Amino acid sequence: MKFGTKAIHAGVHPDEATGAIMTPIYQTSTYVQEEIGVNKGYAYSRTQNPTRHALEKNLAALENGVHGACFGSGMAAIDCVLKMLNPGDEVISTSDLYGGTFRLFKTIFEKYGIKFHFVGMTDPAAVSKLVNENTQLIWVETPTNPTMSIIDIVAMSKVAKQANAMLCVDNTFATPYLQNPLDLGADLVMHSVTKYLGGHSDVVMGALITSDDKIAEEMYRIQNSSGAVTAPMDSFLVLRGIKTLHLRVQRHCENGEKVARFLVDHPKVDKVYWPGLESHPNHEVAKSQMRGFGGMISFTMVGDKLSDAHAVVRNTKLFALAESLGGVESLIGHPVTMTHAAIPKEEREKTGVVDSMIRLSVGVEDVEDIIEDLRQALDKK
Ligand SMILES: *Cc1c(COP(=O)(O)O)cnc(C)c1O
Repeated sequence: MKFGTKAIHAGVHPDEATGAIMTPIYQTSTYVQEEIGVNKGYAYSRTQNPTRHALEKNLAALENGVHGACFGSGMAAIDCVLKMLNPGDEVISTSDLYGGTFRLFKTIFEKYGIKFHFVGMTDPAAVSKLVNENTQLIWVETPTNPTMSIIDIVAMSKVAKQANAMLCVDNTFATPYLQNPLDLGADLVMHSVTKYLGGHSDVVMGALITSDDKIAEEMYRIQNSSGAVTAPMDSFLVLRGIKTLHLRVQRHCENGEKVARFLVDHPKVDKVYWPGLESHPNHEVAKSQMRGFGGMISFTMVGDKLSDAHAVVRNTKLFALAESLGGVESLIGHPVTMTHAAIPKEEREKTGVVDSMIRLSVGVEDVEDIIEDLRQALDKK
């Protein structure tokens, strides 16, 4: 089955009791047993719920995986992966990691005896150098935020295999429509479903997908034991959102390209970070592992003044100033005072996150309106 067909049909069936074509919201905590030990496959909704189950099967199919698990947030999904490790184990990850993931690693799991290394992962040799006999997990995020660096998943899977470590890829920015890490050698895929998969800025959710039966057993044991599961209503909303994932992401990519090229030509814009541009330092890797380049774009301004960036984000009318990304509506953000505020200036400037950087989540509105909004905001400042 091809992607769009799977997005609409995988994991879901008309309701057997009524014929309802949409998966019902099974808003129940428990299930009546016919007798002791005899049930219809569901015993308690922390362990499994039919609405969540349909979504987990759908997500597994979209990532060309076998087993899916949904969590109360993207962070809860990452938390589950880290709980597969033991004290003394070591993790290698990228230096421009999502801030919440960095915080979870450093302030929660470090105190349980897990050691973390952060390195620029666009250089596989630098990652290999950090491998030792304790290396158990390589954590990749690609594209990264906000500079849209692309990490070579096949190269990372070779490093992970040599180290006998698990490779997990945070595929939130790319979505399964543009990139399938399991096909490129990853053992696990993680999503903040909150973003493109949900797609309508109305749900916070996370997911893990794997084809490895042993990893899946651990994943479900931890999901049930820690209990950070997602609710039936949210599962329903995401199942509905996913039915248009391929259509939305196609439009995000088209709009993303037009906005990126508009910004490249604008005299007040300095650098543009979008992996589809031939000038992007990792464009070749992006082309080899992604089917399109998405709607996430960052740019900096000539002169690099904080006040210029603030003026632009204040002057947009269609773009809403907000954290998050991946919804149908266009969002604008200023990493230095929002998502990356906790990182010291010197550190963030090493990775290109300068004062005038602006990040866009280009939505699926008509692109003429999106560009007109940016044009008037840039001209006004
Ligand atoms: C948002 C995000 C997360 C965290 O997901 P939540 O659903 O907010 O908990 C993790 N990784 C990336 C890349 C994200 O954008």
